[in-house]
Amino acid sequence: MPMNTPAAPLRRKMIAGGGALLLLPVVPRLAQAATILAVRTWPADEYTRVTLEMDTELKAEHFTLDSPHRLVVDIEGLRLNPALNDLVSKIRPNDPYISTVRAGQNRPDVVRLVFDLKQDVAPQVFTLKPIGEYKYRLVLDLYPKVAQDPLMALLKDADNDPLAGILENLAQDSPTEAPIPSVEGQKLPPTARKQPDDTPPPQPRAAPGVRTGRPILIALDPGHGGEDPGAIGRRGTREKDIVLQIAHRLKKLIDAQPNMRAYLTRDRDYFVPLNVRVQKARRVQADLFISIHADAWIKPSARGSSVWALSQNGATSSAARWLAKKENDADLIGGVNLGAHNAQVAKVLLDLSTGAQINDSIRVGTQVLGEIGKINQLHKNRIERAGFAVLKAPDIPSILIETAFISNPQEEQLLRTAAHQQRIANAVFSGIRDYFSAQPALARRE
Ligand SMILES: [Zn+2]
Repeated sequence: MPMNTPAAPLRRKMIAGGGALLLLPVVPRLAQAATILAVRTWPADEYTRVTLEMDTELKAEHFTLDSPHRLVVDIEGLRLNPALNDLVSKIRPNDPYISTVRAGQNRPDVVRLVFDLKQDVAPQVFTLKPIGEYKYRLVLDLYPKVAQDPLMALLKDADNDPLAGILENLAQDSPTEAPIPSVEGQKLPPTARKQPDDTPPPQPRAAPGVRTGRPILIALDPGHGGEDPGAIGRRGTREKDIVLQIAHRLKKLIDAQPNMRAYLTRDRDYFVPLNVRVQKARRVQADLFISIHADAWIKPSARGSSVWALSQNGATSSAARWLAKKENDADLIGGVNLGAHNAQVAKVLLDLSTGAQINDSIRVGTQVLGEIGKINQLHKNRIERAGFAVLKAPDIPSILIETAFISNPQEEQLLRTAAHQQRIANAVFSGIRDYFSAQPALARRE
């Protein structure tokens, strides 16, 4: 569990009065007062999240104020306590959205939080029921007023890149069929403000490296993040940290190629919903999507790497089904505001056929599995398939790699070392390179 704050004792109000009154066991209002169990903050460029974890579900109302920009959140059924003051110290100076926060007892049972902001926000405030290790959570997500375009993030990376010009062109004729992931209340950036009727007819995408000089773009997707630690090893190693480190190593290898570039669906420790990961990859027109994970099983003896592709009609085994469910639960543990994310987009993704995608995924997965087999024991020596939500981009070959079992003490130890992380990155990279050199024109775009 990240950054837990020990439960703070409630400050109980003394009841003045006769002895008879003191014999009453419970005062109604105190019965409703909640205890804050933990306060966590997850600052990121994409959005900053503040989570209050409590022993009961609380109602919250919010509004924003201008000049200067502030977000005001009123939480009902709560009294000011030390855990809340903790929140003040958890706002980091480099938070892109929050400069400070103040907490006060606004009414007898209402705590008011006032966030002083660095920019205008489109806030999402919602509650989550207990799941996994968590009790009730009140989540405050501070998104920028104008949604971030993943293409811009790709460009920001490309400052000294000889391919910068090509990437910029790519951003300019940004595809309209892959919308920018956004939440309710957010505007889209200017480039995407085309009216539907003056949208040019969709052009077939040019194959990377052919004629246009367009680089092969690979979306790397480090699993979990933020509120969702993923699997946790016996020594406390968190899947979300290990897979991010491996993804950064793999990105370096890819970016060192003259005709390849990598894009990270998350570049630090914050939570990205599964469908947003898919949308981001589509938005940057990725040619390949690689989700990176570490496995866990009840028995510590389970070990080895595995590579997965999407299945639309059932998993290859009951263990496969179990694993896909566990990975898909990331949204529940990480915390998604149901309704705020573009439900339409998710539906469109599900409706499109993915048969060709799956064939290509198995092809690239087989190459990657072969290379990983040279550096680590394989859990299964063929591609397995299950209904992973994150592999559902209909037009991008997508695989999920379980690099090793973090629940196996030896493999956990290996995953912690830079040398082994690099071996994994090297192996995955070799597999990717083999796949693309076997089909330079990307046969999948018929
Ligand atoms: Zn995972």
